[in-house]
Amino acid sequence: MPEISRQPVSPDELGELFQTYNQRYFNNELVPSEGFSLRFSRSTQLFGCFRYCLQTHVDWAIDISSRLADHPRALRSTLVHEMIHMLAHQKYRETGDAFYLDEHPVPGEPFVNADHGAYFLSQVERLNRQWPELHIAVTSHYGNHLYEHDRIPPRHLLVVALEDGRGMIYGLHPKAAVDISQLQRTAAQLHDPSGISVLKVRGELAEGFPVLRKDNRAPARMKPLSLRGFEEVAGSLRSHRETVTLYTDELVVDQMVANEVLVNQETMVAAA
Ligand SMILES: [Zn+2]
Repeated sequence: MPEISRQPVSPDELGELFQTYNQRYFNNELVPSEGFSLRFSRSTQLFGCFRYCLQTHVDWAIDISSRLADHPRALRSTLVHEMIHMLAHQKYRETGDAFYLDEHPVPGEPFVNADHGAYFLSQVERLNRQWPELHIAVTSHYGNHLYEHDRIPPRHLLVVALEDGRGMIYGLHPKAAVDISQLQRTAAQLHDPSGISVLKVRGELAEGFPVLRKDNRAPARMKPLSLRGFEEVAGSLRSHRETVTLYTDELVVDQMVANEVLVNQETMVAAA
């Protein structure tokens, strides 16, 4: 089985990858605690998560976001990142030396945040130097160069413009049918919109926005926030060459001229 294949990674293969990586990157140093499990999670916020007992530091699990199954290089980088955490807690159990836990900065040593300090970063440096293709990072971004870009599905966004240049952007549920009249009602229920648009964008550009329900309604208790830097964010989404404007309140635009029309939208609205 080639390690980096075109096939999605199956849940069973996670265990094999753990063994392969333990041998190659950690000289088989990792000895999982009894009951340790490795599984795909449904999380979209966290790509990987190492779970352990706060009292004993025994390892419980590594969870890997199932969206990484289609992205073997990002999965490898994430799994090895979590394995470094696992090794840190194992070394703490073995030695009692809190240095391994990276809870606090060590003078003269790098420190990003708790869990990612001198020990963690020394392992990152060692691995990235010896295996440059790993690209281990403290934080990773969906859609960066480790991802298979042809496997990231496009997403729909609801752009709600408010008065005074403020506004908010929502992600549509990945399985939602685009229902414009419901989206108009949802926008009106959350805000006092001056206009809405629905965009189809590259999947990685849709990350980080609050997501509506599958029926295009707002989740219960969703707070109507406005997005910092709304005009810049909306402008850069609209001007991306792969963005398609499916709908705007002002006029239903032809895809070919959508970006140009939208750039000039203010002028056109003023002239209307
Ligand atoms: Zn981490």
